[in-house]
Amino acid sequence: MEERPHSEAPPSERDVSGNLGHLRLFGIPVRFHFTFILLIIYLVVLALDKAESSTTTVIYVIALFASVLLHELGHAVAARRYGIRTLEIVMLPIGGVSRLEKQPHRMTEFWISLAGPVVNFVIAGLIAGYLAAIGKLPTVADLVRTSDQYMMARIAAGNLILGLFNLLPAFPMDGGRMLRAILSSSRPEHEATRTSVQVGMAMAALMALAGLLTTNFMLVFVAFFVYLGAMQESLVSTGRFLMRGELVQAAMITDFRVLHHGDTIRDAAELLLATSQQDFPVLAGDNVVGLLSRTALLRALATDGPDAYVAGAMDRNYISLVPDMDLADAAPKLARAGSCALVMNGEHLIGLLTTENLSEFLVLRKISRNISQSPHLDDAPN
Ligand SMILES: [Zn+2]
Repeated sequence: MEERPHSEAPPSERDVSGNLGHLRLFGIPVRFHFTFILLIIYLVVLALDKAESSTTTVIYVIALFASVLLHELGHAVAARRYGIRTLEIVMLPIGGVSRLEKQPHRMTEFWISLAGPVVNFVIAGLIAGYLAAIGKLPTVADLVRTSDQYMMARIAAGNLILGLFNLLPAFPMDGGRMLRAILSSSRPEHEATRTSVQVGMAMAALMALAGLLTTNFMLVFVAFFVYLGAMQESLVSTGRFLMRGELVQAAMITDFRVLHHGDTIRDAAELLLATSQQDFPVLAGDNVVGLLSRTALLRALATDGPDAYVAGAMDRNYISLVPDMDLADAAPKLARAGSCALVMNGEHLIGLLTTENLSEFLVLRKISRNISQSPHLDDAPN
């Protein structure tokens, strides 16, 4: 699977929370979501009372895990061919998720998405070819019986299933992205996304129902993740759609308070109480020299006391935006900044953009769009 970025915040701060441990593969950080570890434990426990040695189980699980990683590397290599960097790979129970630095164009997305499942088919094909060559190709009935004998064939079968599962034409599977890419050629991107998301949710519901009826809880588990993935994609797409074409200056806060270089933490704390503002630009004369967040303020109050200067606690590496920047491009920068970015006209501070007022702006925009709904609301191509 793969996933498009909606923020460029450092990987450790991004929204797939609950990551445990990480390694690097060809320079791409690989993270393990804790539910992935749960899956491994579940698989091992499941296999303990089977007619299979624990060594075989461990090899089988490692081989499948490696196949998922290779699948993700397939996406990464294809993305690199189109000049798109992969920021990280997150391992989830239903497969990996590659985070790309930007949303690829329609058919580019199609090919990048296809590359993952193709890797699994190639692995399955190579193993099957080898087994056929040495005359040890098992039947399906052989594969269903767990035993040490057909481990290679079961790894091949696992890859086949992995490839096919990811080709399901539903978000968040690769097939969902391919469907979106194809649909995008005849309709606006957000409509194509909406259709793919609906198919994904319908498929998750069917999977969950089938899992409950057959008491196959693994299937219910997978359905749950498919549903979450579809939901998330829908939110990202809606946000992008609402932001596209809107400028930073339309959403920024223009009525705000500032601190001065020589102010103390006590002055800042008083301002925090007196206003609803959480982040304060710090000025020296007319020039911005830093940004003091609520967290930094409270930390300084606790460690340095109320008489310390704000200059010692402020962040000098604040993120600044220009007023005529597209909000869809500004949002990832804001995510990297944390909760607040400064809007600067040259050297002059003219506003603040915070995550809170950005989401309020989007809510208002959604309402006004619904009121003035026209049949030709086109998403600008990105
Ligand atoms: Zn994939």
